[in-house]
Amino acid sequence: MSARLIDGKATAARVLAEVAGDVAALKARGIEPALAVVLVGSDPASQVYVRNKVLRAGEVGIRSLEYRLGAEASAAEVLEVVEGLNADASVHGILVQLPLPAHISETQVLQAIDPAKDVDGFHSENVGGLSQGRPVLTPCTPAGCMRLLRDTLGDLAGKHAVVVGRSNIVGKPMAALLLAADCSVTVLHSRSVKPQRLCGQADIVVAAVGRPRMIDADWIKPGAVVIDVGINRIEDDGRSRLVGDVDSDAVQPVASAITPVPGGVGPMTIAMLMHNTVTAARQQHSPSAQE
Ligand code: NDP
Repeated sequence: MSARLIDGKATAARVLAEVAGDVAALKARGIEPALAVVLVGSDPASQVYVRNKVLRAGEVGIRSLEYRLGAEASAAEVLEVVEGLNADASVHGILVQLPLPAHISETQVLQAIDPAKDVDGFHSENVGGLSQGRPVLTPCTPAGCMRLLRDTLGDLAGKHAVVVGRSNIVGKPMAALLLAADCSVTVLHSRSVKPQRLCGQADIVVAAVGRPRMIDADWIKPGAVVIDVGINRIEDDGRSRLVGDVDSDAVQPVASAITPVPGGVGPMTIAMLMHNTVTAARQQHSPSAQE
């Protein structure tokens, strides 16, 4: 057996086509969805992420605004930008690119974003809503993983899902979404005992650890579906390349389907950001509507 590769690029293209249709429908009602991206400092990876988000927004017809502040900007200056965007009715989504410089509290800045415009889904009101099963703006990477899982497996009810990693941006919201989809969910982390044994019982494995190729065939039950969120840059034969948290070569003969790195979860994250921006725009123009 060799696992089917789950094509995140193709699924992301479908999501973006749906979003472009939704944008056109909103524009026909006189609403132009707009996403503001705030970048503080000059972290090279963050600059690439911001550039890609702005490009993708343009491709689907979403207006984007960029706010760039120097690494020495104070928390008060960042908060002033966020508050200005909160008050601007023509802006529907606000994204503050993480990480922020060490002297600025990420929690304080994220909590300052109007929850209705919080397209990253990191505000505690959205986090709480997700854990209560309310329809809220949901973190983009886990939302993208769910779309890939539903496309691969259909109904997820009753499946045993293991999430490896418990970060606020991936692991925890992923577990909440799987639970909301009626999976039985186990979350593993750095203090878990015998993680391979627990993971080896899973029908679905979501790896979000940040350790190159940590999860090998010993962790995977035959036929499991594996979603590899990890993006790790390694040196291989003198070349720099990206690998996931899963040892894909070792796992492919065991799993039934697996996301490649790159080309799996990565393209979905940005597609779901566009989806969230359109959702936010629609809701802000019909606040009583439930998605
Ligand atoms: P974090 O570093 O915030 O969290 C890593 C998690 O992995 C922690 O909960 C940690 O446990 C757990 N962990 C560490 N070592 C082990 C171990 N040996 N066994 C089990 N669990 C372990 O990372 P993120 O969640 O932010 O990101 C995870 C990966 O996903 C990274 O490679 C990142 O680059 C990638 N990523 C990809 C995205 C995409 O768009 N594709 C988006 C976001 C992230 P503990 O809590 O105990 O420390």
